[in-house]
Amino acid sequence: MASHIVGYPRMGPKRELKFALESFWDGKSSAEDLEKVAADLRVSIWKQMAAAGIKYIPSNTFSYYDQVLDTTAMLGAVPERYSWTGGEIGFSTYFSMARGNASVPAMEMTKWFDTNYHFIVPELGPNTKFSYASHKAVTEYKEAKALGIDTVPVLVGPVTYLLLSKPAKGVEKTFPLLSLLESILPVYKEVIAELKAAGASWIQFDEPTLVKDLDSHQLAAFSKAYAELESALSGLNVVIETYFADVTAEAYKTLISLKGVTGFGFDLVRGTQTLELIKSGFPAGKYLFAGVVDGRNIWANDLAASLTTLAALESVVGKDKLVVSTSCSLMHTAVDLINETKLDSEIKSWLAFAAQKVVEVNALAKALAGQKDEAFFSANAAAQASRRSSPRVTNEEVQKAATALRGSDHRRATPVSARLDAQQKKLNLPLLPTTTIGSFPQTVELRRVRREYKANKISEENYVNAIKEEISKVVKLQEELDIDVLVHGEPERNDMVEYFGEQLSGFAFTANGWVQSYGSRCVKPPIIYGDVSRPKPMTVFWSKLAQSMTARPMKGMLTGPVTILNWSFVRNDQPRFETCYQIALAIKKEVEDLEAGGIQVIQIDEAALREGLPLRKSEHAFYLDWAVHSFRITNCGVQDTTQIHTHMCYSNFNDIIHSIINMDADVITIENSRSDEKLLSVFREGVVYGAGIGPGVYDIHSPRIPSTEEIADRINKMLAVLDTNVLWVNPDCGLKTRKYTEVKPALTNMVSAAKLIRTQL
Ligand code: GLN
Ligand code: ZN
Repeated sequence: MASHIVGYPRMGPKRELKFALESFWDGKSSAEDLEKVAADLRVSIWKQMAAAGIKYIPSNTFSYYDQVLDTTAMLGAVPERYSWTGGEIGFSTYFSMARGNASVPAMEMTKWFDTNYHFIVPELGPNTKFSYASHKAVTEYKEAKALGIDTVPVLVGPVTYLLLSKPAKGVEKTFPLLSLLESILPVYKEVIAELKAAGASWIQFDEPTLVKDLDSHQLAAFSKAYAELESALSGLNVVIETYFADVTAEAYKTLISLKGVTGFGFDLVRGTQTLELIKSGFPAGKYLFAGVVDGRNIWANDLAASLTTLAALESVVGKDKLVVSTSCSLMHTAVDLINETKLDSEIKSWLAFAAQKVVEVNALAKALAGQKDEAFFSANAAAQASRRSSPRVTNEEVQKAATALRGSDHRRATPVSARLDAQQKKLNLPLLPTTTIGSFPQTVELRRVRREYKANKISEENYVNAIKEEISKVVKLQEELDIDVLVHGEPERNDMVEYFGEQLSGFAFTANGWVQSYGSRCVKPPIIYGDVSRPKPMTVFWSKLAQSMTARPMKGMLTGPVTILNWSFVRNDQPRFETCYQIALAIKKEVEDLEAGGIQVIQIDEAALREGLPLRKSEHAFYLDWAVHSFRITNCGVQDTTQIHTHMCYSNFNDIIHSIINMDADVITIENSRSDEKLLSVFREGVVYGAGIGPGVYDIHSPRIPSTEEIADRINKMLAVLDTNVLWVNPDCGLKTRKYTEVKPALTNMVSAAKLIRTQL
C-alpha cells in the first residue's frame, strides 16, 4: 500500500524562507544566501518525508513566491512591461512580476480557490510568446535525486494554468485563453522530456479547476491537452490531482478518460460525492490517490474512520491501486506541531500539522497493508474521544443563543439613505471624504514592544504608554495630512484575526502555526476548538483613547465574524455557520460597547467574506445567506447616527454585489487598484449602490508611490460611474506592511488628489 503527499509548506517550520526573502529584498543578503536557505528547506522536507516512509514524495512544490508564477516563468510568459530579454528567468524579473519595482507595478494577485493563499494571475494574449524559461522543476527533481530520493515532480496543469489566467492589458476581455493551449503544450513537452531524461518515473499535474463548474468547452480542453501530451508522457506514470471539492459527475467522466494518465487524486475531505463517483465506475488498472488526510485543517485525522473509507475504496479499485494521500497540498496547514511547546497538552493531542499528517498518511497506508501500528491508532482513538467529550468544547448558553439565530433575520430598522443623512449631520464630512483602512506601518520597535509585553518583559504600564505614544503619532500624522476620518493605526495588533481570537473564548493559539498567504507573508490562524464567547470588551479602551486625541471622527476597528471564521482553523465537529453565528454574537457586544463609548464610526472588516464562497455555484446562496446575516447581526442594534463601515480585500465582487448590498453597511472600502478598476464595471452596468463606497485609489501591496495625477485620474474614473456624494477616497487596504517613507508621500498625494477633484466638482 503506497502513500503520497500532494504538496508541502515551503516557508519552513520557523518561517525561514520568509526571513531569507525579506532580507534579500531589502538588499541585506545575497542571492546565494537566499538560495542556500531555500535548498536547505527543500532537503529537510524531502528527508523528512522519506524517513516517514512516504512513497510518492513531491518536488517542485517549493516556490520563492508562488507556484502559478513559477509556471508563468517556466512558460516564459513574462508581460512585456517587465522588459525581460530572454534566457533563464532570474530573481530580478521573477520578483518584479510578483512585487513590482520602482518603475513597474506588480502583476495582479488573487486568491487560490477558496483558500487564503494568493497566486499571481498570468496575463496572456495573442501576442504572448512562450518559451521554456525556467528549469526549476527539473533542477529540483535532480536536487532530490542527488540525495537518493526519487520524487514526483509537480506541475500546475496546463488547463488549470490557462483557466486561472486573465487576458493581458489591451486584450479583449473575451479573448479565449484556452486557445493558447497549443502554444503552451510544447513547453510542457520540453519539461516532461527533461524530467524523463533526468530519471523521473512519475509526474503530477495539479488540475484543481476540475472541481469548479466547468462548461463542455472547458472540459474538452482537458481531453485535448492530455491527448496532445500523451506521447510525451509515455513511459511516465501520470497523476492528475484535483482538490478543494469533489469533481462534478461530468468532470469525473472527462477526468477518468484522459489519455496517458495513470492515476487520479481526489479530495475526500471536502468532496462529499467522490466516493459515489468512484463506486459508479473507476477505470481498471488506474491508481486512485485517496486524499483522506485534511490538508486544510489542523485536526488529527480520525484514523479509524479513514480506514473504513479506504477499505471501501480498496474493494472498488483494488489493493495495489489504492494510494493513501492528503486532501490537497499541506501548504494550507501549519508546519510542525513539534514546535508548539506552549500549547495545552489536551488540545495538542487533538491536532496534527503538516509533519504529523505525513506520519498519519503513512500509518494509514501501513495499516491497509496489514502492518497496523496499534499504539499509534489507539492513541489517536483516545484523542478523538477526548475531543468529543471535553467540557472545554461546549458552552450551552452560547449554543442556545446561536441556534436561536437560525432562520430569523436581523437588520437595521432605518434604510441606508436616511441613516447616511443622519450620520452626515453629525459627522459633517467634505465630499470625497478621505480615510485609510486601519493599520499604519508596523515598525521593528513596535513589534518589539508587543513581543516583550507578551513575554512579560515589560510592565503593562510601559506597554500601554508605548502603544499610546504610537497612536498619538499616527493621529498627529493623519491630522497633518488632513485626512477626514481617522484610524488609530492598530499598533496593538499583531494580526486582525489573532488579536480578536486571543480575547475570545473557544480559541487556541500556536507559536509557529504559520500558513503562507502570499509571497513571504504568512498568517497564523487561531484554532477555534470550542463554543465562542466574549468575556470582556476587546478594543474599547484603545478606540476611546484614540478618539480622545482628536476632534475628527476616529473609526473603531473590528474584524467581522465571517473573516474571523474564514481565517481561522475551524472546528470540523459542527457546521461552519454555527460557529460563525457564535462569533457574530461576540462581535455584536463589542460594537455596542464601542458605540456606548462614544465611537461614531465603526469599521467591521470582512476582508475574507468572498474567499469563503464555496467553489460550486450551487452552494453559493446558502453560504452568502448565513455569512451576510452574520455580518448584519453584529450591527443591527446600533443607532442611525452610528456609521458602520466594512472593508473587503478583493475586487472581483461583481458576482456577489447583491450580497454585499445586502450587508447593509453605510460605507464599504474595497480593493480596486490592482485589478484595473474591474469592480467599477458593475456600476457601469447599472447596479445602484446607495451606500458610501471607497474603491482603493492605490495599491498598498507594492512599495511604489502613486502620484497625485495618477490618483486624481483614478478618482475621476470612479466618478464617471459613482455619485459624487457616495464616493470615499482611500488606499486599497491597511498600511501595516509598508514603510513610513512610502506611506507619507502616498497619503499626501491621495489627499491632494481628493482636494483637487473637490475643487473641480
Ligand atoms: N483593518 C485592517 C488593516 O488595515 C484590514 C486589513 C485587511 O483588510 N486585510 O490592517
Ligand atoms: Zn484589505
